[in-house]
This record gives sequence, C-alpha cells and structure tokens, in this order.
Amino acid sequence: MITFVWMKIIFASQNPNKLKEIQSKLSAFEITGLSNATFPDELKETGLTLEENARQKAQQVWDKTQHACFADDTGLEVEALNGAPGVFSARYAGDQKNAEDNMHLLMQNLKGETHRIARFRTVISLCLEGIFYTFEGICEGEIIHEKKGSYGFGYDPIFVPKGSSKTFAEMTLDEKAIISHRALAMDKLVTFLTQR
Ligand code: IMP
Repeated sequence: MITFVWMKIIFASQNPNKLKEIQSKLSAFEITGLSNATFPDELKETGLTLEENARQKAQQVWDKTQHACFADDTGLEVEALNGAPGVFSARYAGDQKNAEDNMHLLMQNLKGETHRIARFRTVISLCLEGIFYTFEGICEGEIIHEKKGSYGFGYDPIFVPKGSSKTFAEMTLDEKAIISHRALAMDKLVTFLTQR
C-alpha cells in the first residue's frame, strides 16, 4: 500500500498517549513528537490562559526548529468556581500533578453546591511558516458527586458529558473520541490542514 505524506508536522508534546491519539486522526500527515535531543527540558507553560499556553509552546518549537508545528492545552472550567481549575487543571492540588488529589480538591470545593455545570476546553495553536492559527474544542457536562469508572485519566471519573449517562471514565477511548474537547479541536485542525 502506498501512503501519501503531505506534510511533516511537529506536535509539541512529550506525551506518547496524546501523540498516538493525534497520529490516528492526522494519518495523512507525518506527525512527530518532540525529540529529547532538541528539547531536553519540558516546554515553558507560564500563561494565564489556555490560549497563551498553547501559543507559548508552539512558539518555542517554531523558534527552535522553524518547522510546521502545533501545541495544545486543556482545562476543566467549573462554572460555580468561576472557571477554576481552568488553565491550572494539571496542578490544581499542587505541583505533584496528581489526578486523585485534584479530583478530591475539586469535590471539596463543590461540597454543598448544586450548580455543577462544567466544560472541558482544548485550545490548539498551529504554526505554519511563522503564522499562528487557533482552534478550540469544548465538551459541556457536569461534575458528579462521586467517582465512577476506571478508564481515561485526569478528571474523567467525575465528569459526565451533556446527554450522556456515563462519565468519561466509563467510556471506551473510541466513545470518548467522538465527543471529547480534544477530538473536537483536532477535527477543526484536520479540516483546516486538509482544505488548504
Ligand atoms: P493538558 O493540557 O492536556 O496536559 O491537560 C491539563 C490537565 O487537564 C490534565 O493534567 C488533566 O488533569 C486535565 N485534562 C485534560 N484533558 C482531560 C481529559 O480528557 N479528561 C480528564 N482530564 C483532562
């Protein structure tokens, strides 16, 4: 079988799971992760918004490689907490970036709260020839009172997407990939790249 590769694009992440997920969506392109040799340290993420962080990561890769690249950043935005944890989702309960600790703190902070609407939001920043393009994917839902399910990662066991009776952690990867924030943002990126 002959595979046509239209373009090589660097995905600004050292996370092999994300890379796999993204490679399967962008199979017409050659997607590579960050090489440890060129990027021995974690990319800087010091923005105060998802947009700033995604752009900052894509900018660092562009500056060093001058190659087509994209970066993503995701946050869980809880309405009753004025959008927290948001851009701080990974380290909500501290720098140890522990999912159990993060969920525990979130549930503590929502104790007694009946308004539990939340959304996952992913922002992708793509850089082509030094020009930046932004794509957003949103998955609306709510935070439940106790954890359910064992698939997935992060806040998946306490997030039920709108219209579903299951948490993300009770869904298979394929089920989650149809409705997830990251998949929706990726779909917009794929449409943009394939229609150029
Ligand atoms: P990242 O920008 O994709 O690394 O996401 C930042 C943090 O948001 C992660 O460390 C998780 O805590 C949380 N997160 C991102 N995507 C998801 C998801 O699909 N399910 C649950 N938690 C997520």
